[in-house]
Amino acid sequence: MSRNSIDSLLLETRRFAPPPEFAANAIADADLYERAAQDRVQFWADTARELLHWHDPFTQTLDWSNPPFAKWFADGTLNVAYNCLDRHVLAGHGDRVAFHWEGENGDTRTLTYAELTAEVKKAANLLAALGIHQGDRVAIYLPMIPEAVISMLAVARLGAVHSVVFGGFSSESLRSRIDDAQAKLVITADGGWRKGKVFPLKDAVDGALANGTSTIEHVLVVKRGNNDVEWTEGRDLWWHDEIVTMDAEHTAHAFEAENPLFILYTSGTTGKPKGILHTSGGYLTQVAFTHKNVFDLHPETDIFWCTADVGWVTGHSYVVYGPLANGATQVIYEGTPDTPHAGRWWELIEKYGVTIFYTAPTAIRSFMKIGRQVPNQFDLSSLRLLGSVGEPINPEAWIWYRDVIGGGHTPIVDTWWQTETGAIMISALPGLTTLKPGSAQVPIPGIKIDILGDDGTRVDPPRGGLLVVSEPWPSMLRGIWGDPDRFRETYWSKFSDLPESSSSGASATAPGQIRYFAGDGAHVDTDGDIWLLGRVDDVMNVSGHRLSTTEIESALVSHPIVAEAAVVGAADEASGQAVVAFVIIKSNQQHAQTADEASALLRDHVVGQIGAIARPKRVFIVAELPKTRSGKIMRRLLQDVAEGREIGDTTTLADSTVMQIISDKLR
Ligand code: ATP
Ligand code: MG
Repeated sequence: MSRNSIDSLLLETRRFAPPPEFAANAIADADLYERAAQDRVQFWADTARELLHWHDPFTQTLDWSNPPFAKWFADGTLNVAYNCLDRHVLAGHGDRVAFHWEGENGDTRTLTYAELTAEVKKAANLLAALGIHQGDRVAIYLPMIPEAVISMLAVARLGAVHSVVFGGFSSESLRSRIDDAQAKLVITADGGWRKGKVFPLKDAVDGALANGTSTIEHVLVVKRGNNDVEWTEGRDLWWHDEIVTMDAEHTAHAFEAENPLFILYTSGTTGKPKGILHTSGGYLTQVAFTHKNVFDLHPETDIFWCTADVGWVTGHSYVVYGPLANGATQVIYEGTPDTPHAGRWWELIEKYGVTIFYTAPTAIRSFMKIGRQVPNQFDLSSLRLLGSVGEPINPEAWIWYRDVIGGGHTPIVDTWWQTETGAIMISALPGLTTLKPGSAQVPIPGIKIDILGDDGTRVDPPRGGLLVVSEPWPSMLRGIWGDPDRFRETYWSKFSDLPESSSSGASATAPGQIRYFAGDGAHVDTDGDIWLLGRVDDVMNVSGHRLSTTEIESALVSHPIVAEAAVVGAADEASGQAVVAFVIIKSNQQHAQTADEASALLRDHVVGQIGAIARPKRVFIVAELPKTRSGKIMRRLLQDVAEGREIGDTTTLADSTVMQIISDKLR
C-alpha cells in the first residue's frame, strides 16, 4: 500500500472540536499524553496503582526478556472480581446500580453493586463446590442475561479461566472450543430470547457433549427460556436449585498478575478462529484506563451502554471488566435491536437515560437503511458521547450517527482494537481531540503504533502502510491457547527480530526490533492521525494500483441511495484484479430506479469520488451481506462468489442462507 495508493479518505475535511462544556468537564487532560511520552512503562505502573486494588503491590512493571511473551506487574497479586465488586461496596457505593438488565421479552432486573457482589460470591461458592480451582477452564454459553456477567466474575474470582462462547454458535462450534480449552464445566441456559422467540441453548450443549468423550464434568443450567430440555442425571444441574443453598460470603483470594483470566476465540472474519489468551493485572489496567478516559466516565452520573454481546471481546472489556472495575452504571439488553419494533434500542436509551452509547458501524448502517424517522420518535437527549468499534466507520455513517442519534452535538470516539489487543489502542479522547469522521486518529496514551511499508520502515505521511504495535502493552494477548508457534508466526514473524527467527532472514526488520503485526492496513496523515483501511488480506491490486476496500466502500456509502456496501477484488485477466461491489440500497430508495440504473449510477459515483482506477467493474444490488455473528462483513465469501468459486467455510456466518441467496442471484 505504500506506493500508488489512493488517498480519497483523506479528502474528508469535516472537523469537530470538543464542545466547550464537554471539554471543561472532561476526565482526561493533556497531561496523560505528556506523562506517557516521558516514560511509558512508568506511566502504566502509575495507572495500574491508581485504578486497581493490589493485594500485594508489584515492584516490576514490564518483563520483556523473552519476547513475544510479555509479563506485566508480575510480582503483584490481585483478584479481578474483587476489583470489579467488593472494593466498590467497601468504598460505600453498594447502593449504586451496577446494571439495568432488559430482556427482549420485556423482563427487567436491576442489580446494585452490593447485590451483584452477593450473587457472584454465591456463584463462586457453587463453582468451587463443583470442583473448579485456579487454572481450570469453564465454558460459558449463555444469552445476554445477568447470569452471564455473574458467571464470568465467579470464574475470575476463583482464579479459573473462562471461555465465553457466543450463544448464537452451533453445537459444533461449542464442541471445538470446549475441546480446544479442555473445559471442565459448561454454564448455559435452557434457552434465551431472540427475534421474538426462545432459541434453545441446552440442546446445543447436549449435542456438543453427545458422544460422551468430552472433558466436561457438569452442565450448569440457568432457567431463562422455560423451554423443555433433556436432562442427564448426575451431569446436569439447575443453577437456581444450587445457588439458593450457597453462602453469600466468599473471600476473594489474590492471584498473580499473570494468572490467566480468559480465552476468547476471534470472530473468524479472515479464517479459523484463534483462542486468544488474556491474563489479569495488565488486562484489567488497560480496560479500566480506556473505559474511563475514552468514554469520559463520570461514574456517579453516567449511564453507559455497550451493545456488544459478552461472546465478543467488546463484551468482555466494555460490558464486564472495564465498566465494573470503574464502578459504572450500565444497561444490558438481551435481544435484537428490531424486536418487537425497529426503535427498541432508542426506546431503551430514553427509558434508562443512557448518556454514553457504544456500538458497531454495521448496526449504524442498518439503522441508516431504515431511516431517521424511527430514532426521531424517541427522546435521545440524555446522550452526550457515542462510540464505534468493529470495522472502519464510513464518514457518511459517522455523520449520520452524530446528527441523528447524537442530536448533532455529541463527540464520537472511533475505537480501533482487536480481540488480541484486549483493550482500545487507537481512539480520540473526546474532551481533547478535534474529531475527523472516518479516522480512528491517535494511539491512546502509553501505546506505540507505527505504520510501516513492506520493507519495515516507517512510511512518510501522508501515506498508507501496515499497522504495527511497536512496544508491548499491558492488555496484550499472552498467546494463542496451546499453540505458541501459531502465536509467533501470526503476529510477530513479519516485523520482528525474534531470538529464534532472526537467522531465517524472512522478516523485514532491524536487529532487536520486536513489533506486533495487526493484519490491518492504515494511512497516516500529516497531522499523524490514523485512518484504518481494512484487512491487509482484503487490499486489491488493480493494474498495479493498490486500492483499499474501505475507501471504495466509503465512496459508495456516501451516495444518498446506498445503505451498505462491500467491495472485493476478483481475479481479472486484463487488470490483475477488478473491483466488484455488493450494495444494499436504502429502503425508501429501492423503487426509484432499476438495478441496472443503480449500478451505472454508483460506478460513476466511485469514479467521481476516487478516480477512474477505482471504477467497479460490476456492482451487484443485494438485499443482505454475509456477516459474522459480531456483524463484520466476510469479504472472502463474496470474493468466492465474484470469482465463481465454491463458497468457503461459512460456519461463523450469522445467517448461512445469505450466501445462497447472493450466489443464486448472480448465477
Ligand atoms: P479473525 O482475526 O478471526 O479474522 P476478527 O479480526 O474479525 O477475526 P476481532 O478481533 O473481533 O476479530 O476484530 C478485530 C478487527 O476488527 C481489527 O483487526 C480491524 O480489522 C477491525 N476493527 C475493529 N475496530 C475497528 C475500527 N474502529 N476501525 C477499523 N477497523 C476496526
Ligand atoms: Mg483479527
